[in-house]
Amino acid sequence: GSLRFASSFKAADLTIERNPKCKPKPDPSTLLFGKQFSDHMLTISWSEKGGWDAPQIKPFQNLSLHPASSALHYSIELFEGMKAFRGVDNHIRLFRPMLNMERMHRSADRSCLPLFDKVEMLECIKKLVEVDQDWVPFSQDASLYIRPTFIGTEPSLGVSRTSKALIFVIISPVGPYFATGSFNPVSLLADPAFVRAWKGGVGAYKMGGNYGPTIAVQNEALKQGCQQVLWLYGEHEEITEVGTMNLFIYWTNTKGERELVTPPLDGIILPGVTRQSLLDLARAWGEFKVTERTMAMKELLEALDAGRVLEVFGAGTACVVCPVETLLYKGKTYQVPTMQNGPDLAKRFFKELTDIQYGRKPNEWAPVV
Ligand code: PMP
Repeated sequence: GSLRFASSFKAADLTIERNPKCKPKPDPSTLLFGKQFSDHMLTISWSEKGGWDAPQIKPFQNLSLHPASSALHYSIELFEGMKAFRGVDNHIRLFRPMLNMERMHRSADRSCLPLFDKVEMLECIKKLVEVDQDWVPFSQDASLYIRPTFIGTEPSLGVSRTSKALIFVIISPVGPYFATGSFNPVSLLADPAFVRAWKGGVGAYKMGGNYGPTIAVQNEALKQGCQQVLWLYGEHEEITEVGTMNLFIYWTNTKGERELVTPPLDGIILPGVTRQSLLDLARAWGEFKVTERTMAMKELLEALDAGRVLEVFGAGTACVVCPVETLLYKGKTYQVPTMQNGPDLAKRFFKELTDIQYGRKPNEWAPVV
């Protein structure tokens, strides 16, 4: 497997084939998530024999795959989710993109896919965004979603390490998640019968196989009148993540201290870029305790009963922060007073991160493309 580590593609070798038929750009207020794609895509293919080919930017097009491709059978597949933002100064910025490259690299390693140079990968993505720069919405409520994807294309049915692979990156303009200033709080189904990830498993990696099986559970949540799933784990029903977001609880702990709590990166949590950013900001502010630790459902419900919970919210690239207003657990609905409490902290995080993303507050977290 040494070839897997031996080399990387280089952004300097990139070739660009321009699309002669660019499409009109959509109105940002009409965008649905991930339904429209730009004029170009990036592809980089690899084989054990020949190593990495030169990266290519070319007109957006269908892929042609051997029907035995290992991604289609054994889910040898991983992806990333990141965004580009058009700032107040009309410059286009990414947000902490090396954290996505590092996570992608870890997912590739766990998938036995070939490794690559993270800096070169980011340079290629920047080039794609530059080529399709008109697709970055001219709006401070919208952005360009970037979907790096890495698949095994081994054309054989053996369950073994792939000898062929393909990286492709597609980009999609996305509209406002919350109309300016107003959050839409969500209701959650917390049912310990469903498990997203487990110790020793791959929940910490962004592999397609972690996501497909969640759709039936999401449907169950909708059927029960909830919008998303609160994923519980283990005999103590630890609270782990919300849908595809990391989870934060802002409360007064049993010692009477104001504290922001989020579950630790113990292998069952996806290490979110937003999660890391909220922790970094809160620690820099130094105004309240910041703790990464497990919390059992029972502990959360007791704190809710005692009126100690101030805000519960999800955190992720899609919405930055997403307030939680109710929990449905074992047939009972629990109200969470997130909205009644502002939500002061969730709003502050939202403003701080979007100020950085849209260049209203220059910060090294948001490099210009
Ligand atoms: N948890 C899961 C399961 C996710 O899929 C995501 C989205 N990548 C997140 C959390 C949030 O991560 P990020 O802040 O990097 O978007």
